[in-house]
Amino acid sequence: MNSLRTRDIMYIKGIGPQKAELLQKELGIRSVYDLLRHFPTNYLDRSSVHTIASFEGDMPSVQVRGRFVNFSVQGEGAKTRLVGLFSDGTAVMEVLWFKSIRHFRDTLAPGKDYVLFGKPTAYQSRWSMVHPEVDSPETASRQEGFRGVYPLTERLRQRGIGSRQIFTWVQNVLSTTPEIRDPLPPSVVGRWQLMAPREALAEIHRPTSPQTLERARLRLKFEELFYIQLDLQMRVRDRKGRLQGLRFPRVGQWFNSFYSQCLPFALTGAQKRVVREIRDDMNTGRQMNRLVQGDVGSGKTLVALLAMLLAVDNGCQACMMAPTEILAGQHFETLSKMTAPIGLNVALLTGSTRASARKKIHEALADGSLHILVGTHAVLEDPVKFHNLGLAVIDEQHRFGVAQRARLWGKNTVAPHILVMTATPIPRTLAMTVYGDLDVSVIDELPPGRKPVTTAMRYDEQRFDVYRFVGDQLRQGRQIYIVYPLIEENEKLDLKSLEQGYEQICDTFPSYRTAFVHGKMKPKEKDFQMQLFASGEARILVATTVIEVGVNVPNASVMIIENAERFGLSQLHQLRGRVGRGADQSFCILMTKRKIAKETRQRLQIMTSTTDGFLIAEADMKMRGPGDIEGTMQSGLPFELRIANLATDGSIVQMARDSADALLDADPALAGASCAALRVALAAIRDGSASWFRIS
Ligand code: ADP
Ligand code: MG
Repeated sequence: MNSLRTRDIMYIKGIGPQKAELLQKELGIRSVYDLLRHFPTNYLDRSSVHTIASFEGDMPSVQVRGRFVNFSVQGEGAKTRLVGLFSDGTAVMEVLWFKSIRHFRDTLAPGKDYVLFGKPTAYQSRWSMVHPEVDSPETASRQEGFRGVYPLTERLRQRGIGSRQIFTWVQNVLSTTPEIRDPLPPSVVGRWQLMAPREALAEIHRPTSPQTLERARLRLKFEELFYIQLDLQMRVRDRKGRLQGLRFPRVGQWFNSFYSQCLPFALTGAQKRVVREIRDDMNTGRQMNRLVQGDVGSGKTLVALLAMLLAVDNGCQACMMAPTEILAGQHFETLSKMTAPIGLNVALLTGSTRASARKKIHEALADGSLHILVGTHAVLEDPVKFHNLGLAVIDEQHRFGVAQRARLWGKNTVAPHILVMTATPIPRTLAMTVYGDLDVSVIDELPPGRKPVTTAMRYDEQRFDVYRFVGDQLRQGRQIYIVYPLIEENEKLDLKSLEQGYEQICDTFPSYRTAFVHGKMKPKEKDFQMQLFASGEARILVATTVIEVGVNVPNASVMIIENAERFGLSQLHQLRGRVGRGADQSFCILMTKRKIAKETRQRLQIMTSTTDGFLIAEADMKMRGPGDIEGTMQSGLPFELRIANLATDGSIVQMARDSADALLDADPALAGASCAALRVALAAIRDGSASWFRIS
């Protein structure tokens, strides 16, 4: 396969420098290897000839064989078209050309045999085809069978590059490449009876039967997933075997005095268990890489704080990173308030920290007097030097893949312990891939006294009932969130309805202060408005999903979600998680139009029927496919998956994992002769992913 990576597509017959540049720009296809891995999304069936008389309903593209009876040019100006009457002996149809009229009139002759391939459409009780592919019976026989249909871009279409060209180029490459060396070692190929690479590639572009196509897909999916698992397992082994971690044997004064003096409540059983797991991890002499998964409100922040105190007790510093400034700010507030009685030194560093403050923080970090640094993920980009970083906590971030985490090590000579925290339940196969190098702890218990949030759907016409309810809650001293969707494609309209909503709320509840936050605001203004709400000065917050993750205002008991049908289930779950954090009964109201699609209603009904994040995530995956989760997870992979699908190919992920493990058990460095091609393939992939080590 590797020589394919170095062959430029420019030299393929029919491509040349200009098209090569275009293909690279539009589809990222540079080498012959990339071209062969530009997989079809669908197939055209030229395995059989249809009759015009048998056309019915919504037809796919089909092949017919017959003769043109006559041609005529019809219409005028832009509407000029060439119309050929085509008969196959069973019936007659019209064939239309709107472009290159002269060319077709000059080259096609009535009475001669042709094979047409195109999509029949019914127009005024007559069938027609627009710009079909036209072949003589001889050239048609070369097109026989199934043929790939490829993802394309509008630009490529405009420049006349279509599926047929791509198919032809692929066939061209395959016909001049009689052999492709299999990068997978024989032991792996043998174990799963995998199809050979050349055969699989030929089959995927031009299948000969559904069964062989399935085997080709399996082979290609396996290969992708195998590289990922191999890369992952090598990292894990490398770390476990070689890389030394810090040992934190002591539970000392910081931890103990916090525990006895500052802890505002008793830990839940699950929190205790996870803290113990973390403690054990940090005392093995190896680096900890642990994922803490816990539903919204399960109390992950406190677990993180206790872990950080252990680091401090052992003479180290700790840092905690959040995906947004608001969240980082909130963590900072929580942590510094909670630890104030014991005099722990905590600082906040974000993109908007002033230069003078920044300098002070840098100094305190470098001389070791700062215990805990809270920041956004930008902390990684910052030229911060820790005196002795012992633990890095990463909160609520799925984009933090294996490589990004590895980068944290660069901040220290000895790798710090790493704790990743997430509220998003991660399906097993995704966890096995993107977080495959992590140990997992689960906080499967909410703090006591929490009442499940009551969730209901309401139509826009019932708005005044909803407002009456909001009024009641306000009088009882509660706070209210009102969330609007805001997506880029629809930004102007969304902002408008957000602003109108804000005004309506101000008009309806003039005696209460209403804060207003959206993602397009300057960070300062945003923070100011958030602060108004967090402090309780503003009792209502009208916002976009900037509040989606992590925000903690226990007195807020009502979450109203406008246009709820436009949110994904996981997002709704996150939003709902903002309420129900105090002891009072909380409510989540999903506002929709009266007329919504049946599936949408079903989706929203899942929200009203359960508050279990795992059930919701599962339902979400089933209904929408991997969707968001996979999208963001993909960015945690060393290369883009072209054919494997993490959500649906779970069993192949498992196969790949088993094989990677077995292979590395037998040959940890892949030094054997049977792994020579594999080593090269892996190096090429790692090379190609160098530019991907960015943090979003
Ligand atoms: P999340 O897991 O979503 O990050 P937080 O750490 O923000 O949750 O905690 C949610 C709320 O629960 C906070 O107000 C926190 O103070 C509170 N909390 C955490 N642990 C406990 C506990 N053991 N008992 C009672 N309340 C707790
Ligand atoms: Mg949190």
